[in-house]
Amino acid sequence: MSDLRVTIAGAGGRMGAANIRAVAATAGLMLHSAFDRPGSPAAGRDAGELSGIDKLEVIVGDDPEAALVGADAIIDFTAPAVSVMLAEQASAGGLVHIIGTTGCSKEEDWAIAKAGSAGARIVKTGNFSLGVNMLAGLVRQVAAALPDYDVEVLEMHHNRKVDAPSGTALMLGKAAAEGRGRGTDFDTNAILSREGHTGARVPGTIGFASLRGGNVIGEHSVFFVGETERIEIVHRATDRGMFAAGAMRAVLWAKDQPAGLYDMADVLGFKE
Ligand code: NAD
Repeated sequence: MSDLRVTIAGAGGRMGAANIRAVAATAGLMLHSAFDRPGSPAAGRDAGELSGIDKLEVIVGDDPEAALVGADAIIDFTAPAVSVMLAEQASAGGLVHIIGTTGCSKEEDWAIAKAGSAGARIVKTGNFSLGVNMLAGLVRQVAAALPDYDVEVLEMHHNRKVDAPSGTALMLGKAAAEGRGRGTDFDTNAILSREGHTGARVPGTIGFASLRGGNVIGEHSVFFVGETERIEIVHRATDRGMFAAGAMRAVLWAKDQPAGLYDMADVLGFKE
């Protein structure tokens, strides 16, 4: 079978570079095209050289429509509005669309889900790492066993990150809400930040705190706090290649799926 022709969106970004390197190194995938925003310093450069490997003879463009001609799949770690626009294009062309972008609003998530039901094969997750998805499974289990413990999620990222709490922190908080069951609604129980005279902690809430600094790739801790003990489950990312490896696994998995919106638990077979 011929290789899947992959387009990298946001080629000039940190994850864009990691994804270009990963596509070049993954059997069954070939870099078809790459693009970034108009005016990006990445435009006009060879995608391989830009990402720190040998030339790939693919020049980074700045026009998504041109980049997608002849493509089978898009790997997209960019910005919410870009991911919505690309999901619509993926839906029209029946493409695989791997979305790592975080910080989407409810409306943007809804538009992406709609593109999934209209023809795109989308895998979207706040974190493509195998370890974090394992962590989410553990959080679900602990929350089910200890539903009365207070849950707090702490995350730290590099100083260029633009959204908070991180997509991964939200994913872990949602896993805790799912684990608690009994109709626990994440949105009504999530406390995304705290300041000033907050009053006492409301039982059942799921709290978040975000730290930013330096070049921290991503660290997450989930605390389950009882009256006499505390459990902490921690994940630390040490290389962006881990997210890219998950994205490659997702693209190879999604090519054989019907249209729809999936997450990493589907890809890894973690769903009961
Ligand atoms: P980055 O700022 O280094 O890269 C984003 C790139 O997107 C930039 O090159 C930017 O120019 C480009 N871009 C912006 N608008 C564009 C447009 N209209 N068309 C094409 N390209 C455009 O950021 P990053 O660290 O690579 O992260 C990107 C996104 O991925 C963020 O939302 C981040 O939170 C998320 N992320 C997700 C995971 C995961 O596993 N899901 C892991 C790491 C980062």
